Amino acid sequence: MTVQSITILGATGSIGQSTIDVVKRHPDRYRVHAVSGHSRMPALVDVAMQTQARCVIVPDLAAQQGFLEAWPDKVPVPEIRVGPEALALTAASEETDVVMAAIVGIAGLPAVFAAAQAGKKVLLANKEALVAAGSLLMATARQNGAQILPIDSEHNAIFQCLPITPESGQAAGKSGVTGLVLTASGGPFRQLPMEQLPGVTPQQACAHPNWDMGRKISVDSATMLNKGLEVIEAHWLFDMPASQIDVVIHPQSIVHSMVQYADGSVLAQMGNPDMRTPIAHALGYPDRIQAGVGVLDLCHHGKLEFEPVQAERYPCLGLAYAAMRAGQSACIALNAANEVAVDLFLRGMIQYLDIPRIVEQTLSWQACESQSAPSSLEEVMSIDMAVRTFASQWRPIRGSTVNLSSTS
Ligand code: NAD
Ligand code: MG
Repeated sequence: MTVQSITILGATGSIGQSTIDVVKRHPDRYRVHAVSGHSRMPALVDVAMQTQARCVIVPDLAAQQGFLEAWPDKVPVPEIRVGPEALALTAASEETDVVMAAIVGIAGLPAVFAAAQAGKKVLLANKEALVAAGSLLMATARQNGAQILPIDSEHNAIFQCLPITPESGQAAGKSGVTGLVLTASGGPFRQLPMEQLPGVTPQQACAHPNWDMGRKISVDSATMLNKGLEVIEAHWLFDMPASQIDVVIHPQSIVHSMVQYADGSVLAQMGNPDMRTPIAHALGYPDRIQAGVGVLDLCHHGKLEFEPVQAERYPCLGLAYAAMRAGQSACIALNAANEVAVDLFLRGMIQYLDIPRIVEQTLSWQACESQSAPSSLEEVMSIDMAVRTFASQWRPIRGSTVNLSSTS
């Protein structure tokens, strides 16, 4: 078996750590070429030591200094690459076969794009990249023979439930498929009385009932903007129109998503809520490899529940469907406005319910800007930047309300 060389972008994060856990179980299959981290340099040192990565990528010279200070004496220092461009260069380099894209937010897009251009096997956790640049990224991957394998648990589940094309062994988008159903846990505020939503804290929003994730995606799960990003992600990955992608609340997070077929069959993928399962699936694909995840014990769980989404509790989901219908520039605006809003919320500068307000007002502003769909990475980044400037100037207007009638 040839050993594959992996670059893990966002190695210090939640997905990065789970990836390292799986990779370390298979030294016969994988070797870590490079790891990146953005802020916590002692954590990057830890990751580099654990993986014996040949090189590390840090954002700037101050981080390089921090990395060197945290590196233990007498141990050979890995090559240090500095700056955002190093992420893309490493992702595209010949030294890498597989790229785990686990940076959070649009910051990860240039490296995902570079990996797609270079025809790599891309394990895509960074859903924001696909939301902001869906058609461009998928076309680039197709033209260059890159394989994009979904890490998001819902999309990985759908990928597993789709029919297989006999020639390629790849999951195929269409034959007999009539719809996709994404499951959502409903997050920590599913049952909170609506009148208490304005006062919820970042700490409460980050306390997800089933998954242990980074802070940004945890807030996105609470607002369900995460599910909105995932609907758009599913649209691009599986070439499905929004009208054939549904969302259902499933509080136990055991059924990770479903595929509906013309004959009435519905295929679901199940498993314990542990990201090592989709990571191992994508890493090993088409083989099945050990992930370190325990056997699913359905009798222990006892009950699997499903319920419709209450649109008034989760206005962000409706906003995401609206953005998807409006087109690529609106999707960039949805994502960028949300990144700005979540950051402000996590820093205690706005209230929880200001998140959908910022997203909605930014989408309205963007609709008047009449940008045509971007045809290059530079155009995507430039629209993203303009949206961020607008969204970060947002101030609460007294009596401002969110349009809660958005539908999915
Ligand atoms: P996290 O916050 O735990 O980790 C983020 C990583 O990105 C860290 O390594 C951080 O150093 C790096 N990073 C942050 N800002 C950066 C920047 N500007 N430039 C370069 N690197 C930067 O996040 P996470 O929970 O691991 O999520 C990572 C991605 O995976 C997100 O797109 C998220 O939506 C997606 N995802 C996560 C989960 C999960 O269970 N955690 C599940 C599905 C999808
Ligand atoms: Mg998900």
